[in-house]
Amino acid sequence: MAALIGACVIPSLSAAEGSGAAGAAVSASPAASRGWSRLLRPGEIPPPPWPRRRPARDKRPWRGYAPPAAWPAEPSSPPVTAIDAEKLGGALRRLCGRGLKQATAQRYAGWMIEQGKHFGVDPFLIGAVIFHQSRCRLGKPRKRGHGEGLARIHAATHRRQLHEGRYRYWTLEQGAWKPRELDVSRFALTARGLRKGEASIYFTAALLSIYKQQCANLDAAVRSEPHRHPVSHFLWGDRVLGARFEDRVLRVRRLLLDDYTGTTPKARASYRGMPLFSPLDGVPLKVSSGFYDRRDRRRRHRGVDFVSVHGEPVRAVADGVVFFAGVDVPRRGARIVSPARSGRVRRSSMGRGGLFVLIQHGKGFASGYFHLASYTVAARQQVKGGQLIGYVGRTGIKESPAHLHFELRYQKRRFNPFHHLRPYLLPPTGHTEVRADKPKKKKKGKRGKGKLRRKRAGVVKLRRKAAKRSKPSR
Ligand SMILES: [Zn+2]
Ligand SMILES: [Zn+2]
Repeated sequence: MAALIGACVIPSLSAAEGSGAAGAAVSASPAASRGWSRLLRPGEIPPPPWPRRRPARDKRPWRGYAPPAAWPAEPSSPPVTAIDAEKLGGALRRLCGRGLKQATAQRYAGWMIEQGKHFGVDPFLIGAVIFHQSRCRLGKPRKRGHGEGLARIHAATHRRQLHEGRYRYWTLEQGAWKPRELDVSRFALTARGLRKGEASIYFTAALLSIYKQQCANLDAAVRSEPHRHPVSHFLWGDRVLGARFEDRVLRVRRLLLDDYTGTTPKARASYRGMPLFSPLDGVPLKVSSGFYDRRDRRRRHRGVDFVSVHGEPVRAVADGVVFFAGVDVPRRGARIVSPARSGRVRRSSMGRGGLFVLIQHGKGFASGYFHLASYTVAARQQVKGGQLIGYVGRTGIKESPAHLHFELRYQKRRFNPFHHLRPYLLPPTGHTEVRADKPKKKKKGKRGKGKLRRKRAGVVKLRRKAAKRSKPSR
């Protein structure tokens, strides 16, 4: 099988991609091939012939943006035929949490492997998409218009491309769009049909296989934000307007893969001779907000925010003793909450930090983990480096998506964790991008400003003179 993970590459369409159900070519209808070629300049790519989706807008530009080229290659998954359904089900269950029953997780894993095989898609990627979209919950979406089923697919957006159980899409061949079709007749692509687990996984795999073929074609024809993986199109459709989605989905994929292969966290960094583990699995970690970034006029960021997904495990960075586990209360400090009740505290009553855990590692060194969904440790409990202490959440956060806010302290003073966690961060450590939004003042610029000021003053003088001259004498 071709590499499932990697940059968007036009797949060799002649060979059937080693999968049972690659899209079949259809004879071009006269409507699709008519007209355009005559109006185009040589070398220009014709616009896609299908109706465009209205581009969604990414309201908040992603700070800490790392170019797709900065990412190392994603780890490859075992061949589909060699994947153990029971092990994959276990990994999915641990990731999705208590809400997913063991038997259900097993069934999902079986379907992921079956459909992955059928459509030539990585089962781990299917798992990552369904976890990201719904945390493996089949229930109704919280808001209307959020899409249906495990992967929150909008049936309405795909209606136009469906004709009698065949999904029609186009690929670019020799400068022209050629229609292709994929048989998806096993289930109905409707809001109701998608509420079944199997149908959800089936269509997730089908759409992922289509976007795998289309990604490079689309990117050549439609201007998109840089991205490194076809899964971006699963959210965005034709035009990708941000790499946030793929960063998160690929993170989940790494988490699943790590769990499946039984990779235990290893300490790759140290602080004053103490081995330092990563607070999150699935390295490299991407930083969305750096230490001491300006928040508003008064406040500055007192830790580091790591891009992470709601519900992923958080680990203690070193051996130590928990000295606080509780909730941030506005204007009243913090309140201790037992681990069993930590997931049930009302979010509206929390301060900015939300649920958090502080761990003392000795020699005046401490670490803090904020905005947790819940935690598993209590005060005065001994913890080991790399031990699970809680789960990423959105507690105390108003606008941004779920993330881990992480702090390191020495003698009660916070310091920048970048230097110590460098082996776990996306090179070049992720913080150069964060600081890019406040450029350094250049000496040259100052001089230029002065020059501009003098020039402006000169213009004003001239204007005054002209005004004087043009004033009617009384
Ligand atoms: Zn693409
Ligand atoms: Zn933060």
